[in-house]
Amino acid sequence: MEYARIAEAYERIERTTGRLEMTQLLVDLFKMTPKAVLPQVVYLTQGKLYPDYVGVEVGVAEKLAIRAVAQAASVSETEVQKQLHALGDLGEATMRLMEGHRPKGERLTVQDVYSTLDEMARASGAGSQEKKINLLRDLLRRASPKEAKYIVRTVTGKLRLGVGDMTVLDALAVALAGDKRFRVDLERAYNLSSDLGLVAETLAKGGIEEVRKFHVSVGHPIRPMLAERLASPEEILQKLGGRCIAEYKYDGERVQVHKRGKDVVLYSRRLENITAQYPDAIELVRAHVKAKDAIIECEAVAIDPDTGELRPFQELMHRRRKYGIREAMELYPISLFAFEVLYVDGQDLTLKSYEERHRMLEKIIEPSDRFRIAEYLITEDPEELELFFQRAIQDGCEGVICKAVHPKAVYQAGARGWLWIKYKRDYKSEMTDTVDLVVVGAFYGRGRRGGTYGALLLAAYDPKADLFRSVTKCGSGFSDEDLEQLPKRLKEYKLDHRHPRVDSKMEADVWFAPGMVIEVIGAEITLSPTHTCGWGAIKPNAGLAIRFPRFTGRYRDDKSPEDATTCEEIISMYQRQLKTVAAS
Ligand code: ATP
Repeated sequence: MEYARIAEAYERIERTTGRLEMTQLLVDLFKMTPKAVLPQVVYLTQGKLYPDYVGVEVGVAEKLAIRAVAQAASVSETEVQKQLHALGDLGEATMRLMEGHRPKGERLTVQDVYSTLDEMARASGAGSQEKKINLLRDLLRRASPKEAKYIVRTVTGKLRLGVGDMTVLDALAVALAGDKRFRVDLERAYNLSSDLGLVAETLAKGGIEEVRKFHVSVGHPIRPMLAERLASPEEILQKLGGRCIAEYKYDGERVQVHKRGKDVVLYSRRLENITAQYPDAIELVRAHVKAKDAIIECEAVAIDPDTGELRPFQELMHRRRKYGIREAMELYPISLFAFEVLYVDGQDLTLKSYEERHRMLEKIIEPSDRFRIAEYLITEDPEELELFFQRAIQDGCEGVICKAVHPKAVYQAGARGWLWIKYKRDYKSEMTDTVDLVVVGAFYGRGRRGGTYGALLLAAYDPKADLFRSVTKCGSGFSDEDLEQLPKRLKEYKLDHRHPRVDSKMEADVWFAPGMVIEVIGAEITLSPTHTCGWGAIKPNAGLAIRFPRFTGRYRDDKSPEDATTCEEIISMYQRQLKTVAAS
């Protein structure tokens, strides 16, 4: 097929203002396209060479393209610049400069253009710039002025016809299957493969029947299922038919894992290949996924390696880099929490119910601290759901995602639907004051903190009851020296049971008599099902907790435990925080 046909179609598409007309023009283009080059035509029409997840872009810098245009049109680069300035678009400028140009050699075919652009995209290393310029120059010499305009726009990433994925699917349905109603089948295939070219090819070769048989496959990322949102456990349960699996909504990055034997590839929520960023995740998958081939979805979350506690999303962002990956991996380790399985050893699971998929997940994952299934609760009870939500918040999550468990709860690739409903805290606020808290217990450390304490259980003072009520578990902010000193400093308070004046639902590894006071700052105060400070004051069956607490480095030896921050103070800090949020 001659590239001229495409250039003509682009010209017409560019002039249309309506989507219907645009679709019709695409239908005409796809109808005249031979099957063999249909995928290429589909990619080119969106200004691409491959589906996005492949990560190969034509991407020639404008500066280089100008040089190639100057050589092809036998004018100076300054002349090209001048035209570019006057017309505001290098494609138009090229067409103007090449007016009257007689193409050399045979007419350009789609295949010629595609393979040259592909060669340009793949050129790398020393001399690659020169190579790209030469390839582009030679291609332009073979092009008509109009063809040159669209080639230049394509290579500089400025084709911008505005042809969206859904328009392509509509046009394919009409052009090759004869009716727009087949769009749903094509859309499903697209959602399972993220590859419009592959969908077009399957349709062209095997008709709609083949498209309907489409399966997920390792190496083709699946467009993610997303959640709707509701504001109360009652509404959520009602919407989900009275029963659901509630899962922690981890605050990290969604990772779609594609495993084929030892080969593991990771895709982001936007389906970019992020394998290089997470060598540790690759190792975790190899070590803990028992299936040979699988597609699994996880949330990667930054953790404190010494306590295993979750860290805020901002810490994970340090992992988004191209260089220094090993260092970042040491400084900001992650855990993986799996929440979906879509394929296992030849079996497409996307049309199975979530209960079945979840059972499969449990079967193929050998859990460890660093790789396990997302914390979950199967419930029919709004109160139980509310408590689970509070626990999720306290443990450093954004909230919960409640998932339908009825037989029709399939994986809705690429859709935001009511089979998943998120229940989030929708306020964010900072705790501005530090608090002085009493050390009432400790948890043994792991990893670097083996042999010392990994985290301390801290309490606020309740003068009315004369009790110390737990309010947080703090493992951050301690220097190496602090860690070494802590067992020595706390030795005099050590007990083998909870002190009678300590009120805690949490079981510490070591208990202390109230004595040591330390200064702590946190991200905010939240409702908590496990901490007893302010129990029942804001909501029945809930206390208050400090989220993401950090030791400021100050031991308040000048304070007795009875001088510590009181539960009343924590309650009023929580109420102030709510007001600030309401006002903002
Ligand atoms: P948000 O800003 O709320 O994350 P979103 O549009 O990215 O919005 P949602 O549909 O609202 O996505 O929520 C789903 C996201 O939550 C997923 O993309 C995933 O990254 C994350 N997540 C964390 N834990 C889970 C879980 N257990 N199940 C599903 N998704 C989870």
